[in-house]
Amino acid sequence: MKTLSTTVLIIGGGATGTGLARDLSLRGIRCLLVEKRDINSGASGANHGLLHSGARYVASDSEAAIECREEGEILKRLAPQCIDDTGGLFVAVPGDSEQYIADFESMCARSAIPCSPISTVEARELEPSLSDRIIAAYSVEDAAVDPFMLSLDNLAHAVSLGSEFRCNARVTNLHISNGGIERVTLHDDTTGEDFQVEAELVVNAAGAWAGNIAAMAGARINLLYSSGSLLITQNRLTTRVINRLRKPADSDILVPGGTVSVLGTTSVTIDDPDKSRPTVEEADRIIDDARAMMPILETTRYIRAYAGVRPLVLAGDSSDARNVSRGFSLIDHERDNIGNFVTITGGKLTTYRLMAEKTADLVCAKLGINARCATREVPLPASTMGRWTEPGLTAKTWLGTRDVHDQILCECEMVSRSVIDNIIDTIGSEGPNRGDSMLTAIGLRSRVGKGPCQGGFCGLRVTSHLYDRGCVQSDQGVAELKNFIERRWRGFSPILWGLPAMQADLQEALYCGMMDMELCGQRPDADALGADSMQEISALGGRE
Ligand SMILES: Cc1cc2nc3c(=O)[nH]c(=O)nc-3n(C[C@H](O)[C@H](O)[C@H](O)COP(=O)(O)OP(=O)(O)OC[C@H]3O[C@@H](n4cnc5c(N)ncnc54)[C@H](O)[C@@H]3O)c2cc1C
Repeated sequence: MKTLSTTVLIIGGGATGTGLARDLSLRGIRCLLVEKRDINSGASGANHGLLHSGARYVASDSEAAIECREEGEILKRLAPQCIDDTGGLFVAVPGDSEQYIADFESMCARSAIPCSPISTVEARELEPSLSDRIIAAYSVEDAAVDPFMLSLDNLAHAVSLGSEFRCNARVTNLHISNGGIERVTLHDDTTGEDFQVEAELVVNAAGAWAGNIAAMAGARINLLYSSGSLLITQNRLTTRVINRLRKPADSDILVPGGTVSVLGTTSVTIDDPDKSRPTVEEADRIIDDARAMMPILETTRYIRAYAGVRPLVLAGDSSDARNVSRGFSLIDHERDNIGNFVTITGGKLTTYRLMAEKTADLVCAKLGINARCATREVPLPASTMGRWTEPGLTAKTWLGTRDVHDQILCECEMVSRSVIDNIIDTIGSEGPNRGDSMLTAIGLRSRVGKGPCQGGFCGLRVTSHLYDRGCVQSDQGVAELKNFIERRWRGFSPILWGLPAMQADLQEALYCGMMDMELCGQRPDADALGADSMQEISALGGRE
């Protein structure tokens, strides 16, 4: 079996793992980051994208609120390419707690979180989609963050400093000997091969799967899996982040994400992180609740739903996910008699840098290395890897060059063939970073599949181009396309009503007719609703 060796093996390519790879690399420590699928396959690719000002946590968790404020300020300064500094509003509607509204400003002040009261008239001038029934409004320093660009830029910087990354590398076993991890076995799902890694120290940054990884070493972490669903609107509805002014609950936040807005979320306890899926019930619940602050949310068109899992680390036995701290947990498995093993999990996207800093401090202490954290001062360089996730950039680039031969392959987001070629060249059409699907890798690193067609048209075009370039052969491209479309299909089935439902039928007919490709074999949720009721909903026009 092939054996790789490194100083630090990091398991998990989300914001925490990539952030840690960069932090350690800046300290001169060589790492190998392994990810079972591709960058941001876990919660880092399935969140709201809110760079918290901290205001959301002022009542429930002042420590988390302060962390968010500090980290938000650092990221705005050092990673501006990943941030849309939108600002935010907290708004209350009739029925929300008068006491909470009255206390909000002083609670923010206690955690030094900037917050200014504004009149409801001014709030509606700033954000015309707000309800005319709002009863209070505060302005805060929330922002939106592009989680894909963030992780890709972190990874690119780590790689430029000498660290390595392997995607499609699933950790399957940790071998313990003499009170430490002697080697780690991994499986490459693309080639079907097993290989192993020997490292001086192993960091488990596997997010919601951290408990599974720890269990491989015989260590136990008591995790609660809180699944949250989010809905993407076809257009951007507000300039700013909009929060409901109440104790954190479901359906509280609307975050602008480039050309769209993201609404959510929910908190449903599940027993397996691989079972997180958005459901029709959650989509309905989110819209029913959030329309009180913005009535347009009832009639707007949603293009997709998705879900992610928060790993909430339980100190004792708690079953209510909203009452468990959203802070992070750094565990030195010395406590389990495994000397060279550390777990970092929980926390927030907003605090990923701090999580990486604290983990790297512990890693250095355990390895006896004296090296300071640099990520508080050193700007995060923008990378070629992450640049094409920026909304609008591909369109501007295409218009700028005016090359009529540079065909547009994704019309919703204006992604041209030359941009796809640039991404292919950056990933490398062969080799470990290609992952099990080049199409999915391109989707993660660009806006392909993120617009209203949700891959329906661009998926086909990009696949054809991949065949032309020889990146896929035989049935491989069609299989990758099916997988790509099915993942999106799973995400828009919970929000299909009226016209979008009919358009989805057309898309399915195109795929079945042209490519003999059944999407999921059956219409998702048809079982739950009954095939007849799905047709009735389509016929009635549903919500629209
Ligand atoms: C619905 C929702 C909304 C959220 N909204 C926000 C928000 O607006 N703002 C904010 O600050 N935070 C938000 N968060 C929290 C934030 O998304 C997470 O804190 C953060 O993304 C966690 O990053 P991570 O790298 O620790 O974990 P993950 O991103 O989950 O990464 C773990 C990685 O480990 C990999 N892995 C697992 N098992 C293995 C294995 N055996 N071998 C190799 N790799 C493996 C996974 O594939 C995954 O890519 C939200 C979370 C959810 C669920």
